[in-house]
Amino acid sequence: MFQRARLVLTASYAAALLLTIAGVGFASYILIRNDLNGEIDRSLRSATRELEALDVLETGTPGAAPTPTPDRAGRDDDDDEHDDEHDDDEHDSVRLAVLASDVFYLVIDADGTVVSNPRGVNLDGIDLASLVDAPGEEEIQQVTGENAEYRMAVKQLDDGSFLAVGRSLRLVEHQLETLRLVFVTGGIIGLGVSLASGFWLAGRTLGPIRRALETQRQFISDASHELRTPLAVAKANNALLLDEPEATVESKLDQAEAVAAELDHLTVLVGDLTTLARADEGRANLLIEPVDLGELTEEVVRDMGALADLLEVRLTCEAGPAPVDGDRARLRQLLMILVDNSLKYANAGGNVHVRCGTDGGRVELSVTDDGAGISAADQRRIFERFYRADSERTRSKGGTGLGLAIGKWIVEAHGGRIAVESQVGKGTTFRVRLPGG
Ligand code: ADP
Repeated sequence: MFQRARLVLTASYAAALLLTIAGVGFASYILIRNDLNGEIDRSLRSATRELEALDVLETGTPGAAPTPTPDRAGRDDDDDEHDDEHDDDEHDSVRLAVLASDVFYLVIDADGTVVSNPRGVNLDGIDLASLVDAPGEEEIQQVTGENAEYRMAVKQLDDGSFLAVGRSLRLVEHQLETLRLVFVTGGIIGLGVSLASGFWLAGRTLGPIRRALETQRQFISDASHELRTPLAVAKANNALLLDEPEATVESKLDQAEAVAAELDHLTVLVGDLTTLARADEGRANLLIEPVDLGELTEEVVRDMGALADLLEVRLTCEAGPAPVDGDRARLRQLLMILVDNSLKYANAGGNVHVRCGTDGGRVELSVTDDGAGISAADQRRIFERFYRADSERTRSKGGTGLGLAIGKWIVEAHGGRIAVESQVGKGTTFRVRLPGG
């Protein structure tokens, strides 16, 4: 399920990036192309104006023979023809001199015949007739020849012929092709990078969700397992009681006590499960108020005295004022869990010492016993839900395996830390540090 979600997320990242690149690329391409064409069109219009100005000054109309001057009158026709050709060449070179090197001009008859093509542009494939077919005021047309595409400004002159000023789009096409190549290459590289980074990102995003779900699943399966055992024991004992309905409670005390013990255990277990479920949902609101943890410690130790006596453990306390801002009931629960564990896991005739005080603005609480201790491997796991270091032994002591998980949550919800120090065979100390109030 997560692998599929990861792939779907990766594909979504990549599709979003690809769409962005394609959109930006396409828009940029169109803008740049229009810009380049606009620039060409402006240059063609200004070239047209310059040519017109020149020809008006020098010949009246472009391509037309210069007006004969008086001293030229009377020469023979051959001379005139020769002079005309010479003058045409001269005018062409004057006109070309005002044009940028990549701009050319043509003079075309109304029927599409080229009268003048001074740059010698290859006009193969260009439909000249349609080019001069009713052009508007300085109309710009894009025409396709055999060798290249051109943009041309076509204007009708006073003598009915047409002046077409043009520029090849070969350079622009080359620039646009480079741009297309950049966008396509960028798109492919971007797609590759987005697929790789999207896959990695999706993995990172889904990782904590998967772990949370697995923890939740494990929690539910452990909880149902923990509930099943006392229920089975209670059910079996209850069946024994029902086997002999006429028997007195006194004669069936063992079974009756077993049912009661399992019900007690279930009550504690359900209470612990509810606490953790609320904590997970963030619904276990703390009622924060000023609390003297030292005073609370003395109170809990006093209350647990009877249990310590029962277990033949010497329970001592050393507590001074230790103000914290916290939830009184939850802090009491934390103390009960730690002291109860130490009493449970201390040996008969052993000692449990509880200390509470301040240390440079922080409040420190420690619960030390000289019991069996906890191995290094178990120390890393005892704060996990349902983890028991020695499950048979600890279950027999009535533990649910949730006490330290709840204790850890209470400490962290108060902005503190809890740690364990233990040596097998020597004993254990649980140390809690909380921010001072
Ligand atoms: P439990 O209800 O089983 O006591 P806890 O979460 O309180 O569950 O503790 C988890 C496990 O940590 C216990 O099962 C026990 O093995 C170990 N443990 C806790 N406190 C002590 C201690 N003071 N000495 C030795 N082992 C301990």
